[in-house]
Formats: sequence, structure tokens, C-alpha cells
Amino acid sequence: MDMNQIILKKRNGDRLLREEIEYVVKGYTEGTIPDYQVSALLMAIFFQKMDQEETFQLTEAMRVSGDVIDLSAIEGVKVDKHSTGGVGDKVTLVVAPIVAACGVPVAKMSGRGLGFTGGTIDKLESIPGFKTSLEPDVFFKQVNSIGIAVIGQTAHVAPADKKFYALRDVTGTVDNLSLISSSIMSKKLASGSDAILLDVKCGHGAFMENFQDAKELGQTMCKIGENAGKKTVAAITDMSQPLGSAVGNSLEVIEAIETLKGRGPKDIEELSLSLAGIMIYLGGHAQNLKEGKKMAKEAITSGRALIKMREFIKAQGGDNKVVDNYEIFPTAKFKEVVRAEKDGYVKSIDARQIGIASQMTGAGRATKEDQLDLSAGVKVLAKVGQIVQEGQVLLEIYSNERDKLDAAMSQAKKAFKLSKNKVEPPVLIKEILGI
Ligand code: URA
Repeated sequence: MDMNQIILKKRNGDRLLREEIEYVVKGYTEGTIPDYQVSALLMAIFFQKMDQEETFQLTEAMRVSGDVIDLSAIEGVKVDKHSTGGVGDKVTLVVAPIVAACGVPVAKMSGRGLGFTGGTIDKLESIPGFKTSLEPDVFFKQVNSIGIAVIGQTAHVAPADKKFYALRDVTGTVDNLSLISSSIMSKKLASGSDAILLDVKCGHGAFMENFQDAKELGQTMCKIGENAGKKTVAAITDMSQPLGSAVGNSLEVIEAIETLKGRGPKDIEELSLSLAGIMIYLGGHAQNLKEGKKMAKEAITSGRALIKMREFIKAQGGDNKVVDNYEIFPTAKFKEVVRAEKDGYVKSIDARQIGIASQMTGAGRATKEDQLDLSAGVKVLAKVGQIVQEGQVLLEIYSNERDKLDAAMSQAKKAFKLSKNKVEPPVLIKEILGI
């Protein structure tokens, strides 16, 4: 096969055949096709797009490019959850112990943060002693005995996606529907669960800024999942402002624990209960979403979800006293606040700007090699629609380095817009697809 012909074909707007897609994915993963040719093809795909069939084939070629995990050693219906990425999104840390407490096995592989978005694995590593890498037999045994284990995604799952994503990131070809959906779904389908819940974020703090694009992404991923024989549901949810209050690793774990204690921010609680309800339903433990959500709520009020969180932390080597004593978490040396300069309603809080400010405190990475400051980050103390008074604290910024704190502070200030007129808060869950 001739790579140049494949590039020309896509550049001219023609469909690629399954064999051609397989040839490109295999050749690029093995290093026989160079970056410059794949870059040209990605840009041709960006402009000419791929149809549904090509998108399925690209997903499949990337899915089988490495290990395909077999979770059959774990009893029960395994339901995976994936967020397309956001700011302050600690929902997995709340949902996982809730659904495990309701009998749905959680055998989850999660990612790290990159850029202005956070990742579950970095957050878990802020718990002293917590191990995010387990041998497969230990992982299976833990899920079978306590119903929950969360580990980092290994490099052997969909390695083609790792190479493609890294190239897309530096060639202006990330935000294409077929490329995003095949990237996410190849990893999810290789991770071995029976059903998949996708939290597709929508707004300025997400890849998909408007609702229609987010919905199209959700629909495409649901079709890919169903085509592969996995029940797939997508919730389109708001990411125009940060989720909850905390943005940053230990700050977010504390907020997740507070939510499990029934004292979390309203939006985190609402989204966590709804998504947990969907997972409980997909796992076959509830007749419908309403019943699933009710079970999720009961897991919090009864304290069972919090007990599960303690068990989970202990099983993975972490100090589970953190659940009752937040001082065990790493704490930042410096803290500053940003106050409202006038009275008004909070009109908008740009999630992306807050994510960037959090990254500047040391809580996020600019490159894969960066060491994180696990105690650093930002707390957002007023949300869209809320009325604030001059001098009221809008933000708290935490860091171990004074200059990082100062830079983050001037960045974070830009995120808040106030208005004299009343403002409606955004709708949190915009639509659920695939139910
Ligand atoms: N997340 C992924 O895993 N891949 C993309 O392409 C975008 C978001």
C-alpha cells in the first residue's frame, strides 16, 4: 500500500477503505510510517472528515493495537465511566464508591491530567501511600473482594491512540469529531467493561464548546459502542463554569469526600447522583434511572458509600484516616484570596481560565514530565447566578511557591464576570443519549 496515495485520497474527499485505515494505524504504531505523512493525513481528515463507517474502522484498528483487557475474571456487569475532560471534575471519586456500595463492580482505568484539565489518577495520588498501579491479579482480586479498584491506564492499552493523540496535539488536529470519538472509544472498548457511561462536557472549559457539537460527539460515541456490542450511554453536561468549588488534586479529593458525607457542593452532588444512577441501572441493579438515583442517594445518606471509600483507599495502600482528618493531605504553604470589586450577580466563571490558573499554581502539568504540586489549586467560592457583594471572597488560591501563586492570581481574576442583572445558572445535565 502507498501512504502517499492514501493521503491524496482523503485530501480529495474520498472514503478510506478498512485495509487502508488498518495499514496507517499499524504502520504508524510500529514506526514504519513517519510523522510527516500521518500529520498530512490527519489534516486531510480534519478538513474532509470521515463518515461513520470510517470512524468505526479507525476505532477498531486503534482498539486492537495493543492489549485488550479481559475482565471476565470479575463477577457481575462491569460499567465504565469516562469524562471527556473538564475543570474541577472529581465526579469519578464520588461515583465509584457509590456504585460499588450498590453492588456494581468498579474495575476502572483512569488517566492523568494534561493542560488545564485534571485527571483522576493524579488526584488519588494526593492521598499519602495510595498506589495507582496494581498487578492484574491483585486488581481482579481487589474488585472481587471489595467491589472497587482504580488504576492508571497502562501504556499497552490502545498504544496507537497515544501516538496519534501526541501528534494531533501538535498539528492542530485535536478537535475533529471522528478523531476524538475514535480516540476515546478505542481505549474504552479495549478496557474490557460490559457497558460504558460517557460524560460529554460542553462549554468553554471543554473540547466541545457548544451543545450541538457535544451532542454529535455523544451520538457518535454511542453508535461506536453499540456497534461493538456494548451498551453505551452519553450524558451531555455543563462545563461552562468549573464543577463544584475545588480545582486541584488534594483539594478535589477533600471535596469528593465531603460529597460522600452529604456536604458537597450542589452541582457535584447532583451530577454524581445522576451519573451513579445511570451506572447502577446499566449494571442491572435498578429497574430505571429514577430507582438508580434513589439507590445512589441512599448509599450516601446511610454512610455506605463513605465506608466503601475508606475500604478502597486502604486496599490500595493509602492512609484512609484522610477521610476523617484532612490535615493528613499535603497542604500548601501559601494562600491568597480574590475579592469581588463590586456588588452584582455572577454572570460567568470561565472554566478554562480557572483551569489554567490552577495549572499555574503547580496543580497541573504543562508537559508530561512536570512534577505536580498535589496541594496546590484554586477554590471557587461563588457560582454563576449567585449574588455577591463588594469585598466578598470569590476565589482562594493555594500554592507552595509564591511566584506561582501571584501569577495564578492575576490569571484567575480574569475568569469572573459580574452583572447588575439577575443571571440564571446553567443547566447542569443537558441531555442523556442512548437510554
Ligand atoms: N480525550 C481523548 O482521550 N482523546 C481525544 O481525542 C480527546 C479527549
